[in-house]
Formats: sequence, C-alpha cells, structure tokens
Amino acid sequence: MIEYDVLVIGGGLAGMSAALHAGEVGASVAMVSKVYPTRSHSAAAQGGINAALGIEDSWEVHAYETVKGSDFLGDQDAIEILCRDGIQDVFALEHWGVIFDRNEEGNIHMRGFGGTDKSRTCHVGDMTGQTILHVMYERLLRMNVKSYDEWFVTTLLMEEGACCGAVAMDITSGKLEVFKAKAVIICTGGCGRVYEPSTNGLIVTGDGLSLAYRVGALLMDMEMVQYHPTTLPANGFLITEGARGEGAYLLNSEGERFMQEERYGATTLEEKASRDVVSRAETIEIQEGRGIDGCVLLDCRHIKDRILEAFHQISELAIDYAGVDITQDPLPIRPGMHYMMGGIKTDIDGRCYRHNGDGSEPLPGLYSAGEAACVSAHGANRLGGNSLLDCVTFGRKAGVHAAEYASSINSPNISEAVIEVEEQKIVDLFARSTNERAPALRLEMGEIMHTFTGVFREEAGLLEAERRIHAVRERYPEVSVHDKGRVFNTDLLAVLELDFMFDCAETIIASALARKESRGAHTRTDYPERDDENWLKHVAVYHTPDGPAVTYLPVTITKWQPEARQY
Ligand SMILES: Cc1cc2nc3c(=O)[nH]c(=O)nc-3n(C[C@H](O)[C@H](O)[C@H](O)COP(=O)(O)OP(=O)(O)OC[C@H]3O[C@@H](n4cnc5c(N)ncnc54)[C@H](O)[C@@H]3O)c2cc1C
Repeated sequence: MIEYDVLVIGGGLAGMSAALHAGEVGASVAMVSKVYPTRSHSAAAQGGINAALGIEDSWEVHAYETVKGSDFLGDQDAIEILCRDGIQDVFALEHWGVIFDRNEEGNIHMRGFGGTDKSRTCHVGDMTGQTILHVMYERLLRMNVKSYDEWFVTTLLMEEGACCGAVAMDITSGKLEVFKAKAVIICTGGCGRVYEPSTNGLIVTGDGLSLAYRVGALLMDMEMVQYHPTTLPANGFLITEGARGEGAYLLNSEGERFMQEERYGATTLEEKASRDVVSRAETIEIQEGRGIDGCVLLDCRHIKDRILEAFHQISELAIDYAGVDITQDPLPIRPGMHYMMGGIKTDIDGRCYRHNGDGSEPLPGLYSAGEAACVSAHGANRLGGNSLLDCVTFGRKAGVHAAEYASSINSPNISEAVIEVEEQKIVDLFARSTNERAPALRLEMGEIMHTFTGVFREEAGLLEAERRIHAVRERYPEVSVHDKGRVFNTDLLAVLELDFMFDCAETIIASALARKESRGAHTRTDYPERDDENWLKHVAVYHTPDGPAVTYLPVTITKWQPEARQY
C-alpha cells in the first residue's frame, strides 16, 4: 500500500497547481497521471491565459464580462477570486519562467479574445498551455512531490463516508496498487471525447467525473457544453480564438461578414462575441444554406504578418489537415465540441459535495479542480482564456485546502482487499469472448451526443439521445479486450474509459432535459428564451441505481444582477 497525505489524480495544469501548492504547505503529495504529465490535454491550449493586467482594464471589468459571458449562471464568489487573485497566479507563472510574449515596451503582450473588447489574454505564441505545463512540471520535480506517470485510477476508496484514496493500475506492468490518502483531489480534465468530433485529445474521457459521481459526488451544470466556433471539419482540431482576437473575420458563402448582420443583433464585438453566440450564428448560416460544404470561412489574409509572427501552430495545422495556407486563402471551419463548463460541484476551496435530502453537504476528503470541477466560474458559457486561469487558481486553492484538511485528521483505515475487487473486474473483462469493440461504441455514443445535444437541443431529440445512449450502454457487457497481456494494455484502458464515458453522456442528457430554458451554451429550440424567474439556478445530478437524479442548487450573486445579455 502506498500512502500520502494528499493524492492528486491528474497531471494537467490543475493537477500540477494542486500538487505544487499542497506540497508547498508541507503535505506529502503524490500526483498520478494516466499519461506522462506534460502530454495532458492542457498542452494543447493555444490561445492563452487571461489576466487583467492592462492600464485600461481591471479585475472588476474582467469579472463582469465573465459573469455576463456565463449568462449569469456563474457563481460570482468564484468569479471574483478567478479574476482578482488569478492576476497574482499569472505573475507567479512569469516568475517561475513562463516566457510570455512581450510588447514593444517589454511588458507581457496580451491579445484580444472572445467576449471582451479588452486585450487581456497573456500567451506564448500559440503554444501557451504547453509552455506553462513544462515550467510547472520542472518546478514540481524540484519539490518533494512524487509523480506516478502512466498510472490509471480505476476507483476511489471511501471509508465512513469520507474519501480516503484510490486504486490505480501501473500501466507499464498492469499491476494494481492501493493509494491511501487523507485527501484526494480530482484533476482529470473534462469529458470532451464523449462527443465526436471534439477538439479534445483522445485521452479526455471524463474518468474523474465518473469516479466522483460513483462515490456520491454531485455533478453540476453538466448541460453546459461549449462548442468552439473555429474547428477543422476533417478532425475537429481547434483553430484558436486568438486569430479572431487579432482581427480574423468570418465569412459565409456570399462573402458576407455575417457577425456584422442585423440577424445576429449586429454585435459590437462582431466575430469576438462569446463562443455560444458565434457558434449559434455559424450553425444557422450553415443550416440556412449560406455555408460551404457544412462550413463557413475564417479569413486571416489581412493579418498575414501576425500569423507568421505568433500563430505557427495553427498555420501548420491548416496546411497539414485542411491543405490551406491561411496567409493566402480563407479556411473552412465549423463549430465543434470543445469544453465542459459542468463537472464535479465544488466550492471555492475545491471541496466536493453530495446530495443530502434537501440540499447538499461537503463530501469529506474529496476535492476537485480544473475542467473536471465545476466551481462554476464559467456558468453557462466560458470565456476563452479563463480555463487555464481556473486550473492554476482553483488548483492552488484546492491544493492548499486539501493539505490543511489532511493535517487535521488521522490516517484512514483501509484494507488491501479492495484490490481484489478491482482485479476481479479486470479478470472478468479479459474472460469475455464477445464481439463488441470499445472504439465502435465510443464513436456511436459521440455521434449521438453531437447530433442531439450539440449547439441546438429540443425535448424530442434529448429523449431520443437518452434512449439511444441507453441502448449503446446495454451493449457494454459484450465489449471484449482482444489484447490479453498486462503490459501497456491500451485495449483494456479503452474499455475502462468507455464505462466512465457513459456516465458523462447520461448526466449531460439528464441535465439538458431538466433545464427548460435557453441560457449560454444550452439552447433549447422548444424553450428559446432565458427564464430567470424559474431557471436562475444550477442543475445538479447524483447517482442512483436507476440512473442520474436531478436536484437544484442556488446561484451565488454578489455584485452583478442578471440583465439582458447583448454583445
Ligand atoms: C485544443 C484546446 C485548446 C485550448 N485552448 C485554451 C486556451 O487557449 N486557453 C484556455 O484558457 N483554455 C484552453 N483550453 C481549455 C483548457 O486547455 C483545459 O480546460 C485545461 O487545460 C484542462 O486542464 P486540466 O488540468 O483540468 O485537465 P487536463 O489537462 O485534461 O489533464 C487531465 C489529467 O488527468 C489525467 N487523468 C485522467 N483520467 C485519469 C485516470 N483515470 N487515472 C489517472 N490519471 C487520469 C490525465 O493523464 C491528465 O494528466 C483548450 C482546450 C483544448 C482542448
């Protein structure tokens, strides 16, 4: 048995931030990641990280725009922390060695992004996530944090109602181990791959959401799924919002800059309006016949110099995967699944919650941060650049609180026998001689989710999605593992991940069915208006043997009262 004060599951930005800060306040810390940590999806973040550093900007303006971007569903206590305290976190990254791009005065260069007319997105070219991740990892290696690279967590352990560790498999040997911990922090990222296509890496399968859900944690805002306006049609790869932030246009087949048109409210921010707004507009253009092969066009030709200077990655992606030189020709793009606003419900210290009859109460020992968590800093729609900040800031807060909690309790009692239960599950999987294959079911699930729970939703489609996902899940016991070896068995991992993904799909659909209004990314064609009177509340779901059960939690409002949302 391996024992630590704090076990961090996930080695992306949130996990590293949590592990670093838990370690800094004196806890013994282990960080477990199913991939080598610097390969986490955080490495794919191109555009940047927000901080209101400009003279004409302030954390209050950033917070107001985040609240408005969230369509007033975001919890404002969390948003205040994100926008105010996050500034110091970005400075800390800079001091640790993140080589942010500079402006001519030698200050950190900030680019424009969606949902604001300010420039507040700090970046390293278009490879921001990768750079931050590497700097954090170097720092982590210098500290007394043990990193278990390529270990896969299969279940969480509970004792007397508190979380006290996890069982994980060393992928290189297939051997299971018990990790005993006084506090566990889930930083496993989102569940983007429950959709096909998605901008997310193939590893983003919602494992942590399902792990927490199965031990009773509430999942919140799961209906809030962000579609990003500019993804490549061939494979869903992302073209950063930074391109529009620095002046790129969107065009329809008639050569019209449709975001300037009256039919979309002639938004003052035009192409830089919030992601939900632009994704809806693009979808309508395509549906009404003003698209080109299911796409609209992103025109970067007039910002050729900036592309050559600061967008190497996206220009190479466009050449390699779309055959387009974006300095010469417009690029076909379309909205694609990108980000989960919802996740494991936490408070501002990262503590998870469970249902207790008439409300919720903390689930002792369990924490979460990053995209896996829902502190609800993003509400119904996230502003670009706010997620990396969320990971760093709320990762820090979860790490500190978990370490303090761990120092206040005794070591839990757990027996090694839990391994046998997990081992038996794997033996049973190996014993199956049936014919279903995980990738096929995964693709079916993803396509159902994209078709019925995408940019636009309505009751009949959601019920159809519920029925079809249920039917696909019923085939799960027929899924077999062809590779019977224990060493680096990715076939086995795919089957385990698929099981987690079904929980995510079901909770997204249940939450989307529950919310009978349109707000942010959740657009119901049968309930087209936002309805603050009935729906200014969070939808939260918890696990029951019959599937997800829905409950409601209040939205925290501090300074900013709900108002009509216009750009
Ligand atoms: C293409 C792309 C571009 C983006 N660009 C931006 C941007 O410019 N700005 C911005 O703010 N946001 C951006 N985002 C969003 C942002 O990058 C993510 O929300 C954020 O990086 C998530 O970080 P995380 O630490 O929560 O999770 P991740 O980075 O996804 O890390 C998850 C970790 O959990 C581990 N893990 C998962 N399951 C298990 C398991 N069962 N056992 C053990 N370990 C497990 C993984 O190994 C991994 O280490 C982008 C996202 C994408 C997909």
